[in-house]
Formats: sequence, structure tokens, C-alpha cells
Amino acid sequence: MNIIDGKKIAQNLRNDIAKQVKSLDRAPGLAVILVGDDPASSVYVRNKDNACKEVGFYSEKINKPADITQQQLLDEIQRLNNDDKIDGILVQLPLPSHLDANLVIEMISPEKDVDGFHSENVGKLMQNKPYLRPCTPKGVMTLLAITGIDLVGKNCVVVGASNIVGRPMAMELLNARATVTICNSKTTNLSGKLQQADVVVVAVGIPKMIQGDWIKPGAVVIDVGINRLKTGKLVGDVDFDAATQNASWMTPVPGGVGPMTIATLLENTLTAYQNRK
Ligand code: NDP
Repeated sequence: MNIIDGKKIAQNLRNDIAKQVKSLDRAPGLAVILVGDDPASSVYVRNKDNACKEVGFYSEKINKPADITQQQLLDEIQRLNNDDKIDGILVQLPLPSHLDANLVIEMISPEKDVDGFHSENVGKLMQNKPYLRPCTPKGVMTLLAITGIDLVGKNCVVVGASNIVGRPMAMELLNARATVTICNSKTTNLSGKLQQADVVVVAVGIPKMIQGDWIKPGAVVIDVGINRLKTGKLVGDVDFDAATQNASWMTPVPGGVGPMTIATLLENTLTAYQNRK
């Protein structure tokens, strides 16, 4: 069994972006809006800000109070849509319950939608004419490409069907000409479906729910899940030790898909900069 070293691949990607930034006439700019002070969201926003600094991007970390009104938040996004220094706008989710995340996402100019969540970008991915692509699934595609895994004609099973991971992941794999099965909480005989899979991508959020003997010998296993156990340990959605008995390639948690998500956000910001030029 071989490990797909997402930490190293993400570092290489960041180094490559930093090199490209040096030759540009201005630094690509990313604005990250955090509403409220949720501790996990604050950590994510800080990590994104640090990653921007590492590659030489211009970055704005915008903290708004938890009681901001919908209109004030929309106005802030509009200001950033019109700010020429800013190429990418990201609103850290989840938002407080009085705010409508859909309205907020739709307000971001599709050209600056570096999360790839705007319906226009979702539609383009669906039509296999991608513009800005959601970071986590795109990061997984980079991991698979760099590892040299050919997807054409392969049976791929995606477990989880959220808008931010499972659904766009399935579209990415289909666009790469794989045969794709998408599973959700109502799927029957999940183990049987996984036993047919050449490539498994899991994004559910249940620690170790995918058992080792559900993995076909030689399969590639991508574990997107990040779950913190009571002991403080981070684990994925796949029973890693058991799955290593069957998998040919596997991502660890931590150090697999996680680092790729932020590196891909930087990649998308650079793409948005280039497209806007
Ligand atoms: P969501 O909770 O939005 O979606 C979970 C999906 O899993 C749903 O589609 C749900 O089905 C499905 N599901 C739930 N239980 C089962 C089951 N028993 N069998 C099959 N499918 C099931 O989660 P996210 O997609 O946002 O995140 C998933 C995981 O990925 C989390 O651990 C999260 O922390 C992690 N994550 C990691 C990222 C990274 O950078 N590595 C980025 C984003 C997320 P249904 O549609 O029927 O409800």
C-alpha cells in the first residue's frame, strides 16, 4: 500500500504558485469574510490568510460581527466585487442562522468565486466547461493526477453528496471519463457498491464508517473526512489501518486531502487573477 502524501503535494503546489506570483505585475488578492467568532471557522480563516502570505498574495481578512444584517453582508460583498485589488472572495461557512448562505454566495461575482459555489460555476462544472472549481474536489483531482492514477473507464464510488464535496467530486470524476456512483445516507448495500470500486472517495463525516473489507483489492481510497475523536485525535471516514490491507493507494488523515483544499484555493485565486486580466 502506498500513501498519497497530500502535505508534500500541497507544498509543491504552493511553491509553484509562489514562483509564478514573483513574475506578475501585481499580487493576486484574496478576501476572506468571517462572520462571528466560531473557533473552528476562525482557525480555517487564519490558515487561509497565512497561506496567502506564504505565496505572496495580497490578502484581506474581514471580520464581521455575528449580528451583521443580510443587507450589510451583501453590501460588503458588492464592495469587494468592485475592488480591483481583489481577485477572489470567500465567505467562510457556516453562517449564523439569520443569514441566507445561498443569497450570499450568489452575490459573489462568478469571476471572483474562488470556492466555486456560485450556481454559474456549479453549472459550468456540470456542463464539463469548468471555470472556477470547488477546492476540495479539485484538490482530490490534483492528487489523483500527480499520483498517476488513470480514471478513464474506472468504476468510481463517491460516498457523500454534499454541495461542497460529494456532488462536485462526482462531476469531476465524470468529466475525467470515469463511471461514477454517488451514495448518500439512504443508499442500500453500500459495502457491495464499494467492493466494485476501483476508486473510492469518501466525504461523510462519520469516523471510520468505511470498513477495510469493503475495499476491493488494489483500489485507490481518498478519505476527505476530518473527524476529531474525544481523545483529540483526527481521523477520517475510512478505517485506515484495516483499509491498508486492500488499497493500493490511500490518503492519510491528517495530511491527505486537507492541505490540498487550501493550496487549491490559492490556485483558484491565481486563476481568477489571470482570467480577470
Ligand atoms: P455534509 O454533512 O454536508 O454531507 C455528508 C454527506 O454524507 C451527505 O450527502 C449524507 O447523505 C452522506 N451520508 C451521511 N451518512 C451516510 C451514510 N451512512 N452512508 C452514506 N452516506 C452518508 O458533509 P460535508 O460534505 O461538508 O463533509 C464531509 C466530511 O468531509 C466531513 O468530515 C468534513 O469535515 C470533511 N471535509 C473535509 C474537507 C477537507 O478539506 N479535507 C473539506 C470539506 C469537508 P444525505 O445527502 O442523504 O444526507
